[in-house]
Amino acid sequence: MPNTQSEHQHPSLDSENRWLRQKLCELTEEARLSEETFRRCHEREIALLGAEDLPQLLEVLTSGLQLSFHLPALSLVLSDPEHEIRHLLSFSGNTPNLHDKLFFADRLSDYSPVYDNLRHSRLGPYLGEEHRRLFPGGKLIRSVAIMPMIRRNQLVGVLNLGSQELSRFTRHHATDFLDRLASIGALCLENATNREHLVISGLTDALTGMHNRRYLQKRLNEEIARSRRYNHPLSCLFIDADHFKRVNDLHGHGAGDLVLREISLRVWECLRASDVATRYGGEEFALLLPQTDSEEACKIAERIRLRIAENPITLEQGTALSITVSIGISELDRTHQHADPGKLLLSNADAALYDAKRLGRNRTVRLNRSDD
Ligand code: GH3
Ligand code: MG
Ligand code: MG
Repeated sequence: MPNTQSEHQHPSLDSENRWLRQKLCELTEEARLSEETFRRCHEREIALLGAEDLPQLLEVLTSGLQLSFHLPALSLVLSDPEHEIRHLLSFSGNTPNLHDKLFFADRLSDYSPVYDNLRHSRLGPYLGEEHRRLFPGGKLIRSVAIMPMIRRNQLVGVLNLGSQELSRFTRHHATDFLDRLASIGALCLENATNREHLVISGLTDALTGMHNRRYLQKRLNEEIARSRRYNHPLSCLFIDADHFKRVNDLHGHGAGDLVLREISLRVWECLRASDVATRYGGEEFALLLPQTDSEEACKIAERIRLRIAENPITLEQGTALSITVSIGISELDRTHQHADPGKLLLSNADAALYDAKRLGRNRTVRLNRSDD
């Protein structure tokens, strides 16, 4: 140890002293940075675990992480070979606006050679050739952290962090916190994806793939609020297959299922993307047509009726079945305050359907305003 008490230090002791002091400063700075990284990682882990759904989780993993780490650039590339995550996001209709931060790849190693054999976070200087694709915003970046999201030994995504400071991410930095944060991100992503599947299955009809009655209830309130806010009309159609029991009785339950699937396909073909089509139950379908008055709704209903009546449905054995439907039509009355306008809209369409049946089936009936 150099003698720090002596007044006339030996020059080599002097320089050793300086060197040690400098080393101490560097280590203190490194410890401070590690402490800060640890604090931010911890803070982010809590936010990841608290995300309520898939869109929110993706926000936390991208914008949230970027803000918390004060970074000019951050991107998340997710492995999505079967487009599962993209479908889940588009189904929820709640895709976060992360176009410059969130990317999907069928194969991560095809997305960037940097992702080949990525098992631990890699920190180091920004290399234009290698890293440009990972930070498409064109921001000035001097150092990067490439963090693999690993779940069940599989690389499921990569977080790319870019800093303007060369010393922010260097090869000497400890990477354990970052590895851990990315793995927690991967775990949360798996949970959020599973949860999203459950929500969708709870709102979807397994036979036809259409939405179910629960989804209709949820959308009904939203559409009524929208219709009132913008003063747009809103119509409802109730469709019921005629003498459907006979199909089952004569051709079996499997044939009945096939007919229901075919009816739902033909209904879909007559609708716009903004329309809400649901299997209400058994052989009944309920549709909500936003920005559509009952006159226009009658035309759409007639189109659906003809599309089903005019083209027989072919069963698996080749038998062609003539199927018809009856349709009831109602329109939301925006002038009257009603305790439950959604319920009234549906019961009016149901009453019109009842009339269509009573009048001989294979027809469309609009509820007369005076009946409201
Ligand atoms: P109507 O013209 O008056 O509507 O007569 P309908 O025979 O269509 O009406 P009814 O309510 O008497 O019978 C509906 C039948 O639909 C009875 C039920 O077994 C059948 N059904 C309900 N859900 C399904 C299903 O998922 N698959 C099949 N194959 N049949 C179903
Ligand atoms: Mg029925
Ligand atoms: Mg029926």
